[in-house]
Parts: sequence; structure tokens; C-alpha cells
Amino acid sequence: MSLSDFDATFPNLCKHLRQAKAKGRTGQAYLLVGDDIDFLERFALAWAKTAACQAPASDGTECGKCNCCKHFSSNSYPELFIVRPQSKSRVILADDMHTFDHAMGLSSTPGYLKVGVLVEAERMNDASQNAFLKTLEEPPPGTLLLLLTVNPRMLLPTIKSRCQVISLLRNAQDYTSLAKGGLFKALAMLRRQSGASNGLAAAAAIAELLAQCERASAEAVKAAKSSTPPADADSRILKQLADEQAARIAAEYVRQRNIIIAAIHAWFLQRMLIASGADQSLLPNPEMYEGLELPTVSADEASQDLQYMEEFSRSINANVDVKLALDVLCLQISEKITI
Ligand SMILES: [Zn+2]
Repeated sequence: MSLSDFDATFPNLCKHLRQAKAKGRTGQAYLLVGDDIDFLERFALAWAKTAACQAPASDGTECGKCNCCKHFSSNSYPELFIVRPQSKSRVILADDMHTFDHAMGLSSTPGYLKVGVLVEAERMNDASQNAFLKTLEEPPPGTLLLLLTVNPRMLLPTIKSRCQVISLLRNAQDYTSLAKGGLFKALAMLRRQSGASNGLAAAAAIAELLAQCERASAEAVKAAKSSTPPADADSRILKQLADEQAARIAAEYVRQRNIIIAAIHAWFLQRMLIASGADQSLLPNPEMYEGLELPTVSADEASQDLQYMEEFSRSINANVDVKLALDVLCLQISEKITI
């Protein structure tokens, strides 16, 4: 697998990484954030191959012929160290982390880049994260550390701040109609200490969007009605048909509502990545912030807001009243209160 295999999905990012290699400016520590950990690992290894190549082309593409390239191609690169959670506990054990840190501290084979990959880096416990900080603060020369996570909020801020954050989120969606409906305008209203009335106004705007969705779902299902009941249908059949239609309307509403919830989640997740230093142009949906006056938030605040969003999402799935859950979410962010 090579970085060029990812060109179609992430053309700008792959070009950027190859250029860094060509100019000898590859950084030492990166946090790769995505929505699929296996995908992140494949990307990390492809990129490590490019970064390790001893004779890259002028645009930074790996040569495929040097010893390092050959080792990567045959899965036998001697300076690659991967640590991942144990299958049972789902935790990166302190012992494994110690072995990893020790390996990273040893000098590398001359001419070989030492590569350390932490799969599901957020699975380090606090003790392991703190121990790893020493390696992260002063990586030995000729080292590339790649931390992979689908849950960046769980990492210590001190870890995030020492890495270049790269987004490999693939869930780019077309949010044009939601933007027209005012969803992002409402979310942009949410700023800290802006007051309860402001938070509730944002919640009301989002609730109105959901109400429109509910009406649109009913219309869509009724318009798609494939069969009209026979003229001699008895009341039992009519009731059954009505029940089926109601179920279809409910399912369509949940589908549309989930798109809105995913958009709100993307809003807060991307904002956290931006606050952590990710390049905005490399995010899947940077257009949702276009033309809006956004509050400045620290990485910690953005992380906290994302947590509120995740709690909101759980509440909805647990059938909490949507309007109530929205009010709580918007008040938590705008008032900075704990409910
Ligand atoms: Zn090579």
C-alpha cells in the first residue's frame, strides 16, 4: 500500500505530505483523526513508507526500490514499532507502552527512519499517556510518531498539543439544504457566556428545522404511496394501512433527523480539530463555517462542547424529548452550566 492509493480520497493531504518529504520537512509527531481505525492504520503505514524512502522522487513520491521501500513492501521494515490495545481489556497496557517507549529511544539502523505507530492512542490510560509524553516531548532525531484515533476527545490536551493534527475523516456530506435551512447559522450563535436567551433562541431555530423535517417526511411518504386501499376495504384493513404509513413516516423522520444530528456532530468535531491545529481546508466539510462569524474557542472548550454534543446524541437515542435535549445542549454551551 502506498500514499498514492489515497490520492483519490485525500488529494490535497497526500500532496502536502509528499511535499513535506521532498523538502525534508516531515514533522516528528502527528495525530491522525478519522472515523475508521483500520483505515487510519493503512494510511499511517503508507505514509510511513513514503517518509522512510531513501531516494524519493523530486515531488516526494517514494522510489519503491530502496531498502526501506522494499522492507515496507514485504512487511519487514525493521524500525517499525506498533502498539495497540490488548484485545480483551481494550486498553494499551503500561508494559506495552514501556516497551514501545524504550524501542523509540534506541538509536535506529543508520539510514532508516524509526517509525512508532499508536493504534487507538486514546486507549492509553492516564499513566501511560503521561509516560509517553516524555517520548513525545523529545523524540529522538530520525523518528516519526503517528498517533491514530477515532475519538480525539479522550486524549490528554498535552498530547494533542504536541502533535500536528491531521483529519482523515471521510464522511463528507452535502449539507447544502441544512445550510439553507439555517442550521449552521444557529450553531454559530452558540458562544460561551452569551446568555440563556441566546442559547434558547439557537435551540428553537434547530427545533424548527427538525419540525420542518417531520412535515417533509409525512409529505414524502404520502407522495410515494404506491397503492390506494381498495374501495371495499373494511375498517380493519384501513387501520392496518394507516399504521403502516405512520411507521414509514416515523422511519423517514428518524432518517432525516439523524442527518441533522450527524451535521451537528461534524460541526463540533471539526471545530475541535481546528482548535487543535488541523488545517481547515483538509476537513471533510469546511464549507459549513463559510460566511459565518464564529466564536474563538480554545482546544479545551471545543473538546468540552463536543462532549456536550455526544451526550445530546446519546439522549436522543435514548428517546429523550428532542426539544428538551436541544435546550440542554444549547444552554450548556452558551451558559457554561452543568445540568
Ligand atoms: Zn525508496
